[in-house]
Amino acid sequence: MISRSALIWLSRQEGLKDFATRFGFFKKLTTRFVAGETINDAIDYIKQLNSENCTASFDHLNESVGSEPEAEKEVTEYLNILNRITETQIRSNVSIKLTQFGLGLDHELAYRNARRVVLDAQQRGNFVRVDMEDSSVTQVTIDIFKRLRSEFGLDDVGIVLQSYLRRTYADAQELVKLPARIRICKGAYNEPPEVAFPDKKDVDANYVKVMQLLLSSGVYHGIATHDPKMIDATLDFVQREGIGKEKFEFQMLFGIRRDLQRQLARDGFNVRIYVPYGKHWYPYFMRRLAERPANVWFVMKNVLKG
Ligand SMILES: Cc1cc2nc3c(=O)[nH]c(=O)nc-3n(C[C@H](O)[C@H](O)[C@H](O)COP(=O)(O)OP(=O)(O)OC[C@H]3O[C@@H](n4cnc5c(N)ncnc54)[C@H](O)[C@@H]3O)c2cc1C
Repeated sequence: MISRSALIWLSRQEGLKDFATRFGFFKKLTTRFVAGETINDAIDYIKQLNSENCTASFDHLNESVGSEPEAEKEVTEYLNILNRITETQIRSNVSIKLTQFGLGLDHELAYRNARRVVLDAQQRGNFVRVDMEDSSVTQVTIDIFKRLRSEFGLDDVGIVLQSYLRRTYADAQELVKLPARIRICKGAYNEPPEVAFPDKKDVDANYVKVMQLLLSSGVYHGIATHDPKMIDATLDFVQREGIGKEKFEFQMLFGIRRDLQRQLARDGFNVRIYVPYGKHWYPYFMRRLAERPANVWFVMKNVLKG
């Protein structure tokens, strides 16, 4: 069986990315994890989610852009998303990646681009979540987020922390003091053991510790996981501490554990689904395979079926 780290390594191979995205044949497979190639595909899906009492977060797929004009195109796309959310009245916010806005070219460029999107969201009463990427950009992502947070309100911009990182509990302690709205997830990249816990049990234990810290802070945070153990730990904690259902939200990814998404929404919890769309699906798709290498068999079966 192909390993998690091999799949994550493949997710970073530019040559394969170009090869895969060119063929319609591969595109068909992505519907397992991606809403489609166009914004209208994502909007249609979000309308369905809203009818099931789930909210959403748009993700326009692209990361590590290689030029300023490419970053500019991403800003334009996000401004368009925010406009379409207003027009269509769907219940959704947006998630951005700083490398999509030029972080790899120039930190100031990424900051200025993110700022334009947060400003537009603020004016519309919407919200921007800054996704967290690999550990080479953790500090700069937090630094740029703090700058944005000093200029914008708690309900305008938020950030993501990853429980597999050894530093995360300390980051959470610092960020809750701002205060800041945080999405806690386990983390989806390949990290060395000096930086991230290699054992799942430690990642999970840290997740529970950070979740408890966040939910005790009284700020509205996102508990992002499909892991029933993490969800049960959250439910036990909020019940024990008398924290109301309206004080936080569960978050899950498009296409993963639809049963659990619907069940939590039916039980009256706030549930937000991350809805990726766009042509640059390759790295995102490969990370989803890496989370559950058994998914590779699902993909292979579909390839063989034609
Ligand atoms: C809303 C949201 C936003 C995210 N944002 C970020 C981010 O900004 N940065 C980042 O690094 N990571 C992000 N992630 C990904 C996250 O870090 C994990 O990689 C991912 O959620 C899998 O972890 P898990 O908590 O579901 O637990 P796991 O222990 O990985 O999985 C628990 C169970 O969930 C199901 N499951 C999980 N993943 C899959 C899959 N791919 N296919 C099928 N079933 C699956 C399986 O049943 C599995 O047994 C995000 C996740 C969510 C839900």
